[in-house]
Amino acid sequence: MPTTAQFLEEVECYSAHNYHPLPVVLTKGEGCWVWDVEGKKYLDMLAAYSALNQGHQHPKIIGALKAQADRLTLTSRAFHNDIMGPFLRELCEMTGFEQALLMNSGAEAVETAIKAARRWGYRVKGVAPDTAEVVCCANNFHGRTVTVVSFSSEPAYRDGFGPFTPGFRLIPYGDIDALAAAVTDKTVAFLVEPIQGEGGVVIPPDRFLQKARALCDRQKLLLMTDEIQTGLGRTGRLFAYEYENIEPDILIVGKALGGGVYPVSGILASRAIMDAAFVPGNHGSTFGGNPLACAVGRAALRVIREEKLVERSAELGRYFLGELQKVQAPCIADVRGRGLMIGVEIKKSFGTARPYCERLKDAGMLCKETHDQVIRFSPPLVIDKETINWALERIVPVLQG
Ligand SMILES: *Cc1c(COP(=O)(O)O)cnc(C)c1O
Repeated sequence: MPTTAQFLEEVECYSAHNYHPLPVVLTKGEGCWVWDVEGKKYLDMLAAYSALNQGHQHPKIIGALKAQADRLTLTSRAFHNDIMGPFLRELCEMTGFEQALLMNSGAEAVETAIKAARRWGYRVKGVAPDTAEVVCCANNFHGRTVTVVSFSSEPAYRDGFGPFTPGFRLIPYGDIDALAAAVTDKTVAFLVEPIQGEGGVVIPPDRFLQKARALCDRQKLLLMTDEIQTGLGRTGRLFAYEYENIEPDILIVGKALGGGVYPVSGILASRAIMDAAFVPGNHGSTFGGNPLACAVGRAALRVIREEKLVERSAELGRYFLGELQKVQAPCIADVRGRGLMIGVEIKKSFGTARPYCERLKDAGMLCKETHDQVIRFSPPLVIDKETINWALERIVPVLQG
């Protein structure tokens, strides 16, 4: 059996260096736990950036994957399959939207939303051809394609990857006046994360989304919420926009929709928006809506419902956040979160969050720093209170250093 060092050396040699992972090589997972090749057990506090809300190796999701794998895996959308319809119906019923369009990765779903908004803008709003603008927020994360990094404010995501796609305007996150000022007669949509996950678990001011909703209604813009990370229970609601009692026009989902097993993403919207945007032949994906994805997606949703993961996230998140907020440690600048999406911000004078993540790893817990200063705690939603207490016993000494 190769050692950790040998695995790391191999990856160093053969993989493009587009990530900087913690030096741990995992080989097995179950629920909120993972094991490395040395046999050491860790609590997974990242949950694959919230793609693993249902936990590792959920038996119902793995069972659905295996059963479908034995029957039919791919048809392409040139033909129907007998599982996409049932999955879409369940997804629409659970979320309250009329229609959905399935893709694979999150970035593809964001691209799909942008295409929908642009075409809706030309066909319905009457914006002059090829001039549409979408307003986005600084410090956003919506994925890595050329168009998506075209409206990133993070230099590292853009450096060397231009020329970029035009038609985007950035405003400071949470600034409703800036949003109002950014709108022109070319604006078709406002794209926003209800909480910025990769940006460092940033929560906008209260009522920001409500005000944005009202502004979009007044100006005839589509409100598009990217809930790829915040959605499906992570923040203690099925979707984080529910905290503001609003509904977006286009909802973007991904990550946990695939139950930690398979990439499944998509957009949800009204029939009117979908009809304005899409006709046979103008958009698609070979693997989007494939039978394996739909079987996994159905099981992923069923687990969220049956195991009450949304309620669990709200309740355990409240407890975990409360306990973290009690911690007295000079390095802590801020502790914030909703549900089981929690960020502990480290003061710059204490260096970055990375060494803290390394010490947490040694203590048996896998976290990833985000935006240098923030340790994100976002375990699978199947975690229990006892395990959170286990984690707190290890987090507190690391923070008190
Ligand atoms: C992860 C993420 C994406 C991109 O998803 P991929 O599957 O990595 O392409 C987009 N938006 C948000 C908010 C995300 O967290």
